[in-house]
Amino acid sequence: MMNENVLREGLLSTAKAMASSGLNTGTAGNASVRCARGFLITPSGRSYEDCSADDMALVAMDGSWQGPFAPSTEWRMHRDVLQAHPEAGAVLHAHSPFATALACHRRTIPAFHYMIARFGGDDIRCAPYATFGTQALSDSALAALENRSACLLANHGMLVFGSDLRRTLSLAVEFETLSEHYWRACQLGEPSILSATEMAEVIALFETYGKPRPAPASGSASTPAAV
Ligand code: 13P
Ligand code: ZN
Repeated sequence: MMNENVLREGLLSTAKAMASSGLNTGTAGNASVRCARGFLITPSGRSYEDCSADDMALVAMDGSWQGPFAPSTEWRMHRDVLQAHPEAGAVLHAHSPFATALACHRRTIPAFHYMIARFGGDDIRCAPYATFGTQALSDSALAALENRSACLLANHGMLVFGSDLRRTLSLAVEFETLSEHYWRACQLGEPSILSATEMAEVIALFETYGKPRPAPASGSASTPAAV
């Protein structure tokens, strides 16, 4: 695991990038990263532009914390995702415009586009509403994340996790783009939905997509995956 100071710097720059990539405005949203002593999480109600790496709160899995500011009100949701998903290294929550618009309609996003498979299955669920910062919201989100790496939070926003901060931020941007595509497609009526068989094929392709592969033997041509 990376040195805690390096993770603090990485978390702060991810938190700032949430604003510059259009995912969050003001103090909406939060991010966390797993570390040896538990996890580091953005402080609650602070502008990240005015924060230093030392302002990132350190939270132990039992909820005790250290830092100059209280951890994000959503620390339970971050803790529970990190605990339930050992493959998760970072968690990001945003009130991004298109995902939030869909969440306000409590819509599950169906397989209207093959990229839905990026998040583990043939839909992205919307977790039932609960008050921000509560254990009830965390429980609701965790159920919606079963076999998925992202979900919508009803009348609130989105939640995504990935293996590290960089991948998690980029998944959050992909999620927001997909939400925009779905919203735009819905303007023309109900979009066509891919079948379970079509999605199973894409899910299988994503097992290797973007991952390192052995170099092809010299003289033989390699065929890139058609995604
Ligand atoms: P925090 O500032 O406490 O992280 O809260 C922002 C938020 O998005 C709550 O859901
Ligand atoms: Zn929120």
